[in-house]
Amino acid sequence: MNALAATNRNFRQAARILGLDSKLEKSLLIPFREIKVECTIPKDDGTLVSYIGFRVQHDNSRGPMKGGIRYHPEVDPDEVNALAQLMTWKTAVADIPYGGAKGGIGCTPKELSISELERLTRVFTQKIHDLIGVNTDVPAPDMGTNAQTMAWILDEYSKFHGYSPAVVTGKPTDLGGSLGREAATGRGVVYATEALLAEHGKSIKGLTFAIQGFGNVGSWAARLFHEKGGKVVAVSDITGAVRNPNGIDIQALFQHKETTGKLADFDGADAMDSNDLLTHECDVLVPCALGGVLNRENAGDVRAKFIVEAANHPTDPDADEILSKKGVVILPDIYANAGGVTVSYFEWVQNIQGFMWDEDKVNKELKRYMTKAFHNIKGMCQLQDCNLRMGAFTLGVNRVARATLLRGWEA
Ligand code: GLU
Repeated sequence: MNALAATNRNFRQAARILGLDSKLEKSLLIPFREIKVECTIPKDDGTLVSYIGFRVQHDNSRGPMKGGIRYHPEVDPDEVNALAQLMTWKTAVADIPYGGAKGGIGCTPKELSISELERLTRVFTQKIHDLIGVNTDVPAPDMGTNAQTMAWILDEYSKFHGYSPAVVTGKPTDLGGSLGREAATGRGVVYATEALLAEHGKSIKGLTFAIQGFGNVGSWAARLFHEKGGKVVAVSDITGAVRNPNGIDIQALFQHKETTGKLADFDGADAMDSNDLLTHECDVLVPCALGGVLNRENAGDVRAKFIVEAANHPTDPDADEILSKKGVVILPDIYANAGGVTVSYFEWVQNIQGFMWDEDKVNKELKRYMTKAFHNIKGMCQLQDCNLRMGAFTLGVNRVARATLLRGWEA
């Protein structure tokens, strides 16, 4: 099942639980606007190359649409649609005043030079600048993009509309980016995990963690789990995988990857097959990479007791069913990885107020939002007698439905 079919299925189930009117259900499902643009750039050698860029603006009932821009070869319209919809429910679960959107360009950023990436980002921005804005749609980084990408978008956008730092979040701090934004998704994952474990009378200290993905989200989550006394026993990324049953020194692994560009050949751990990461022995499994990685093929072999979805839609519906039958507790993506967009919200607020917060305040507020959202989800689980995924979906969908109804339909 592809990402869009899986996301739609979860939404429909939530709509049924909530008893939503079928017309409202349909209107919440269909995206507000789908943008598809052609982006041609000259490569450094002078030859032309064309890419397709997407921005799907899913819903704006609760505020400006919000979501990342992804540069990845697997970006396609269905996936961007699914991710945009997930952003709508995610911002509602986090209770930040936004709707949902997502963008992307089907490209392999590692194969492009810095100047090619800059040209591509500027051309994409030229094509969508009229459709984004501080109060309409606010992009941010996602897979394959970073603070530099946001700086180029801000600069290009400002040529048309004047300098508007709040038009993107996840910017470099020199341009009004928030302190703590880079670590925010990983830090939010850790706060979410703490809230879940507390519910089960446990804490991070002494538990074992297996982490798939060692990019921005995975490496920050791993470092913070390690800092809090968690034992990270296995880590993988696209370059390979390593394990150490006594716990990996994550700061040292991070330095090793910074200098060598890969996880392999790290002194403090043994090499392992990346395909075995998801079924590795651990208490908490944290997928931080692509969607759909847990499926019918491998779900039965998962040995973790808890899964924290730091990636977007890592668990497909078949796996969801298999895992819940096994008694595995899954903390769903629209809550577990909401820390990034929550600190994006803080960044936008700081830009609009022209007042910067210190990092301590950012992290404290992030913890407050993540903890409150967890208790709101648990409340829904109790009310609807459902699992955490449906608790989060019903919480988010209900908030968006209420806002939509309050704003009304009059043309
Ligand atoms: N790309 C991140 C996400 O999927 C952050 C989005 C944002 O900050 O707007 O949640």
